[in-house]
Amino acid sequence: MRDVRLEGIVKQFGKVRAVDCIDLHIRENEFLVLLGPSGCGKTTTLRCIAGLETLDEGRILIGGRDVTHLPPGKRGIGMVFQSYALFPHMTVAANIGFGLRVKGVDRTEIDRRVRRAAELLQLGNLLDRYPSQLSGGQRQRVAVARAVVVEPQVLLMDEPLSNLDALLRLSMRAEIKRLQQEIQATTVYVTHDQVEALSLGDRIAVMSEGKIVQLDEPQEVYDNPATVFVGAFIGNPPMNFLTGRVRQDAGRLFLEGEGYQVPLSPEAAARIQAARIDEVTIGIRPENIAVSLTEPEGGGIAASVIVSELIGAQRMLTLALGPHTLKVTTSTEFLPPPNGQVWLTFDPAKIRLFDAATQARLAQLPKAS
Ligand code: ATP
Repeated sequence: MRDVRLEGIVKQFGKVRAVDCIDLHIRENEFLVLLGPSGCGKTTTLRCIAGLETLDEGRILIGGRDVTHLPPGKRGIGMVFQSYALFPHMTVAANIGFGLRVKGVDRTEIDRRVRRAAELLQLGNLLDRYPSQLSGGQRQRVAVARAVVVEPQVLLMDEPLSNLDALLRLSMRAEIKRLQQEIQATTVYVTHDQVEALSLGDRIAVMSEGKIVQLDEPQEVYDNPATVFVGAFIGNPPMNFLTGRVRQDAGRLFLEGEGYQVPLSPEAAARIQAARIDEVTIGIRPENIAVSLTEPEGGGIAASVIVSELIGAQRMLTLALGPHTLKVTTSTEFLPPPNGQVWLTFDPAKIRLFDAATQARLAQLPKAS
């Protein structure tokens, strides 16, 4: 087994609890992404796994073995950092083979493994070059090759693509995914880039203030954020939120806030009622709001257009709904009049409900049997 288990780990720097009691089981061969805003504790968590930080509390197991007090070199890990930190006076081959030389592996074996790693990362024809003779993407590939050549049980990557330009990031992202599937190393990958997390992760652990706030597969994190914070952090543009109270009108239920009324399904109303809360926040993704120039049959929600932007394959509208601002994505053909009025329909099945006070998603009601 090459799984990683974090049991109640705590890391404190003075008054800052950088890692605040994290429990996490990373499965064998899993690609787990730690995602969150700057300062949420991602890097510190990774450094704890690597053995570069000592824990204040808790323990870490790799492949069932307690490594809490082992130095980094004895943990069976490979690490790739944002700064590639290659040795400038060594060739690509020497850089890749460095870890093996330190371990005293014999020369023919080093040679064989360096060639294999270079082949995996398409560096075969660059082995005699020096880092200064490489592009940013090639240097980053050398850094990855250097980490995988030691055949680590666990591969740890800290924002490995953030120094690269957008196009290179896209191609390296695909390469990292392919590589991980090929070498089958349990991987922990730190990023603040939600697109990277959604595309790479088997599961994503979303972090905030030293804690994991949601641990799920990417689709689930996107569709069903556990908190308002997760919904607002993931998605570009992020989820829209409106806070209001439930009101009944002519037998129909609405969420009513300043300047709007959003119809609710009976199921949503039942969940709100079961939660016994006064104020509800609804979340809806920009692609789940239909927009039209005339009021739809059955009624719509009137909003006014602030900005209409072409964003490639879609158009993004910034709309005013009373004092609130919403983002809606539509087809590029939809051309609203500047500063004109449009009508919105929220897809009831896609409305997510949160407790306005705690910001946590309201629990699903048990299915009636
Ligand atoms: P970023 O994306 O900016 O790297 P992060 O999520 O990786 O952020 P960490 O680097 O883990 O966050 O930092 C978590 C918290 O711990 C921050 O408040 C940071 O200032 C603090 N911190 C990290 N390392 C140290 C240190 N060596 N000494 C003191 N405080 C630290």
